[in-house]
Amino acid sequence: MIAAPNREPVLQRPVRYVKGVGPKIGAALEAAGIRTLEDLVCFFPRTYEDRRSVTTFRNIRPGETVTTTGRVVGSRLRLTAGRRQLLEVTLTDGTGHLTCRWFHFRAGYERLFRAGFRVVLTGTAQAYRGQMEILHPEVEWLPEAGPGPQVPATTSLHYGRIVPVYSEIGGIPTRRLRTILRAALDLAKTELRSALPPTLQREAPMPLPQAVEETHFPPPDRNPQILFARRTPAQERIILEEFFLLSLGLLLRRRASDAAAGHAMTKPGGRGDLLRKALDFSLTGAQERALAEILTDLARPRPMNRLLQGDVGSGKTIVAFLAALRAADNDFQTAFMAPTEILAEQHHRTLGTWAEKTNTQVALLTSGTSTVERQEILEAARSGEVHTLIGTHALIEKAVAFNRLGLIVVDEQHRFGVAQRAELLRKGVQPHVLIMSATPIPRTLAMTLYGDLDVSTLDEMPPGRKPIVTRIVPDGRRARFYTFVNDEVGKGRQAFLVYPLVEDSEKVYLKNAKQMAEEFRTRIFPHLKVGLMHGRMKAEEKDAVMRSFRDGAIQILVATTVIEVGIDVPNATLMVVEHAERFGLAQLHQLRGRVGRGAESSTCLLIVGKEAGPEAAQRLKAMVETQDGFRIAEEDLRIRGPGEFLGLRQSGYPDFHLGNLIEDTALLRRSQEWARRVLATDPALARPEHRFTRERLVARWHGRLELGSIA
Ligand code: ADP
Ligand code: MG
Repeated sequence: MIAAPNREPVLQRPVRYVKGVGPKIGAALEAAGIRTLEDLVCFFPRTYEDRRSVTTFRNIRPGETVTTTGRVVGSRLRLTAGRRQLLEVTLTDGTGHLTCRWFHFRAGYERLFRAGFRVVLTGTAQAYRGQMEILHPEVEWLPEAGPGPQVPATTSLHYGRIVPVYSEIGGIPTRRLRTILRAALDLAKTELRSALPPTLQREAPMPLPQAVEETHFPPPDRNPQILFARRTPAQERIILEEFFLLSLGLLLRRRASDAAAGHAMTKPGGRGDLLRKALDFSLTGAQERALAEILTDLARPRPMNRLLQGDVGSGKTIVAFLAALRAADNDFQTAFMAPTEILAEQHHRTLGTWAEKTNTQVALLTSGTSTVERQEILEAARSGEVHTLIGTHALIEKAVAFNRLGLIVVDEQHRFGVAQRAELLRKGVQPHVLIMSATPIPRTLAMTLYGDLDVSTLDEMPPGRKPIVTRIVPDGRRARFYTFVNDEVGKGRQAFLVYPLVEDSEKVYLKNAKQMAEEFRTRIFPHLKVGLMHGRMKAEEKDAVMRSFRDGAIQILVATTVIEVGIDVPNATLMVVEHAERFGLAQLHQLRGRVGRGAESSTCLLIVGKEAGPEAAQRLKAMVETQDGFRIAEEDLRIRGPGEFLGLRQSGYPDFHLGNLIEDTALLRRSQEWARRVLATDPALARPEHRFTRERLVARWHGRLELGSIA
């Protein structure tokens, strides 16, 4: 966000340069991606604690987080019932007594609590046997002796003020981080330079160095509520700085795609009608709307850049294929890219039957394709004989060339990086791009964030879908679900059993898909056909298993999340997810979407591990309550934040240090307005006063921005 390496080398020095950062802390910081002084000063507090006033012991209430001060009366080491060491310190402040306890502490720590020493403590109080106590308080030792609840007159970083609280990094105590940040700011603060052009800097709430300083160490007169809400001028200043570079990059991207010349596919042709006549269903209203939007785009002489979003099972594939048929009618080829081999193979099967009815050639290319076949397919793509080439990222390999690539369809786009898409784009001359996602993005966010993208939404399900009953099952009651699986499969249905990991290196308690498959096969369901599929299997092996499952030769498929996206087996009516607490909501929704695709009613069982806390079941409740992917996505967004959710990180745009795209929309709009103004006066960012802005823009986007237009 902040400075040019060549001009301000101090900011680029390694974190170990800072006083208080030894090899151990240095390594921990680096492991968290904080390598330079610049990274360090941009590591902003997670929250703050108001330690300006001191609560007397008598006034401490259970459940309150307080800062208090007192004199040590005595300390002792004890053994707990579980034979662990426990440190207990008793204090007085003239108004009452307080006990503090530590279950984890370093050797010799007890010696720092000699009777008569004065300390300042911060922590959350609780009542224990009628006494007030604090577990694991943060402690500050005072030089002065003598009891009394008066506020210590000092300039400590840790009390008597609003103090920053940092996210946990490699076990470094937040108190330590506070000291390190203070030292880092003293070294580097004055070196910070804003990426905003000078005119905008004058409009900004305050200079950047001051904003960074105050965000770490707020002045004492700040209103803590405003600070917690990230609405102080200092915080807003930093968020604006971050959003400005995002907005500028998005605008440039949009401009580049608007300016490009594309293929106008104006001929209506007849393939689409042929397919519609052959289908045993008709399109939903939502599908018709989306298709009309897409066909309008295709007919324009500039490249389409459209996101087709629709919940799992909303029928995106047929819409995309109808678009591919329009391309074929205009003598253009389509590349249809899927994130996994299994999904590519499935698309090949589905599109294959549709292709037969429409006089269209489709082919499949994956890393599993044999050499001979591969040569034939490559030749067919080069000659233009193949209309739609389906594949995984194998499609972006150098050897793949098209005669006339006019449309690129990318399924489950959140799985692909922007770089991969860009690779594919180069294979055609400004082809149209349709990306599809079942991870819905709230509309306002899509508009602002994907400023370079148009959005079509399938907000209606094909008719006749039965709702899926979802239940949360504690691990202890698994016998019940065995019975249930047995009954369902007895009725001729099929079941998925999904596990979080294949080989479990880190945590032994997690069920291992392989091991459980064996257990099911031999002990629990010896009379049923159990298959296993996981990410470490070869593509052909996976395909073979998937085929057996589709053909009913496998009744229970034990799998890791390789089956998460797109798989369509209508006879599967039961989805069991083990260790459901380990999955994100959007991911669970995807998994659940693997069932409920046929005429029979379906069930999804979320097994919650014994070790999961109560908050896990709470979080999973959303799954029981709704089947609306948009609502689940919003819930996920609330819990996880937008960075991961939107695949922003994949797009080459790193997370924000402070900004939040969901909560800070007003600042986002302001930054967009700024970006527009800058580009209006200097579209190529060529003026000297924009040189630094441009430099920062390139650095921030990691070169993933198509900057052709400003090169
Ligand atoms: P997704 O949007 O999750 O990719 P698919 O394209 O795989 O969904 O469609 C799910 C299933 O619904 C497929 O079996 C597909 O053939 C079927 N389908 C699609 N559109 C309709 C429709 N309008 N009416 C009935 N079934 C449909
Ligand atoms: Mg799909």
